[in-house]
Amino acid sequence: MQLAERLTRISVPQTIRMAKLSRELKARGIDIVDLSIGEPDFDTPQHIREAAKKAIDEGYTHYTPVAGYADLKQAVAHKLQRDNSLEYTPEQIVVSTGAKQSIANAVLSIVNPGDEVIIPTPYWVTYSELVKLCQGVVKFVPCGIEDDYKITPERLEAAITPKTRLFMFSSPCNPTGSVYSHEELKGLAEVFEKHPEIFIISDEIYEYINYVAPHSSIAGFGTLKDRTVIINGLSKGFAMTGWRLGYLAAPLEIAKACDMVQSQFTSATCSITQRCAITALRGPLDTAKEMVAAFRERRAFIFKALGDIPGLKVNEPDGAFYMFPNVSHFFGKSFEDVTVKDADDLCMYLLHKANVTVVSGKAFEQPQCIRISYATGMDRIQEGMKRMKEWLGKLK
Ligand code: PMP
Repeated sequence: MQLAERLTRISVPQTIRMAKLSRELKARGIDIVDLSIGEPDFDTPQHIREAAKKAIDEGYTHYTPVAGYADLKQAVAHKLQRDNSLEYTPEQIVVSTGAKQSIANAVLSIVNPGDEVIIPTPYWVTYSELVKLCQGVVKFVPCGIEDDYKITPERLEAAITPKTRLFMFSSPCNPTGSVYSHEELKGLAEVFEKHPEIFIISDEIYEYINYVAPHSSIAGFGTLKDRTVIINGLSKGFAMTGWRLGYLAAPLEIAKACDMVQSQFTSATCSITQRCAITALRGPLDTAKEMVAAFRERRAFIFKALGDIPGLKVNEPDGAFYMFPNVSHFFGKSFEDVTVKDADDLCMYLLHKANVTVVSGKAFEQPQCIRISYATGMDRIQEGMKRMKEWLGKLK
C-alpha cells in the first residue's frame, strides 16, 4: 500500500517501542524491572479526582471553546503569574490534549519548508519529528556530559544561520534531567536578543520536578516573551498523564494561529479534564512536593548505584526523573554469544538477560548513553540496579 510520503520522514518513538516490548515480556510471565517509564508512578491528587466527579454531576459534558474554557485560561494565566512572574492574557493561552499537542500546534504555526530549527541534543524525540512533518530542517547541536548535556551560548551562536527560524528545548530536560540555571538561560537569552527573527519553544512540562528550584523560564529574559512559546501541562507535575491536558502561552498572533490549527485537528480537550485543571492550577502543589521528595531519595540511591558500576559515567541530574549515563565503556564487549556494539544492543542485552528495560540514547540523538527512569518504586529500582550491575559486569 502506498501511504503518504511524509510518513517516510518520521518514526515511532523508541520510548514507546521499548514500553511495548516490555509489556509483551511481562505478559509472558517474565519479571521485568521497567525503568523506561516516562510518567510519575503516583496517583492523581484526591481533590482533583473529586473535581472530575463534580464536573460530571454538574453537566460539563459538551463541546467547549477550542482553546479551553475562559475560566481555565484565566487559571493558566494565574499560574504563570504566581509561579513564573509572567503576565499573559487569557487570549494568549491555548489549552490542548497534552504538551505534545501544544508543541505540535506551535511547530505547525511557525515552521515553513526549508526553515532551520535548532535542537540541542540529547532532546525529546517528538521535536524533530514534528519539524520534519513540516518539512523544516533539523539542526542538532550535540551537547556532551561535560556540559551537563546543555547548550552553551557559544555553541548556540555558532549554529545560527540566516535560515534559523526556531529553537526548541526542554528544561528540566527529558532525557537527561538537566536543568538550565537562571544564569545559563541568561547567557542563551543574550544570544537570542541579537537575533530577533528566531522563535523559541520552551518546553517546561517538568517544571515542578526540580531538585534545585526555583524554575526559570527563558520567556522571562529581556524581550524574549514576545517570541517564546511556553509549553506546560498537568501530566508530570500533577501525575495526570492519562487525563490529557497541556497548554501553551504565546504572543497573541501565535496563540491565535495555534487555536486555528487545533480547531482542525482535535477541537478542545475533554471538558471534564478542563474543569479539573482549574482545581489543579489554582490549588496547592502538595502532590508535586511529595513526588519530588520521593524522587530525590531515589535519585540519590540510583546515582550512587550507577556510580558503583565500573565503566559507567553519570551526572547527577537536577530535575525530571531520569538518569542518563554514558555506557560507551561496554561497546565492543561480549558475554557468551552476545556482543554489544552500541547503546541499542546494550538495551536489548539488559532487557533479555537482566530483564531490565531502559531506553537507548540513540533515540535521543546521544548514542553513547542510555536513559534510566526512576519513576517507579524504590524496591524495583534496587532490584533493577542489582541486575544491571551483575549483567554489565559479565560483559568482557
Ligand atoms: N515534553 C516532554 C519533554 C515530555 O517528556 C513529554 C512526555 N513524555 C511531553 C512533552 C508530553 O507530555 P503530555 O503528556 O502533556 O503530552
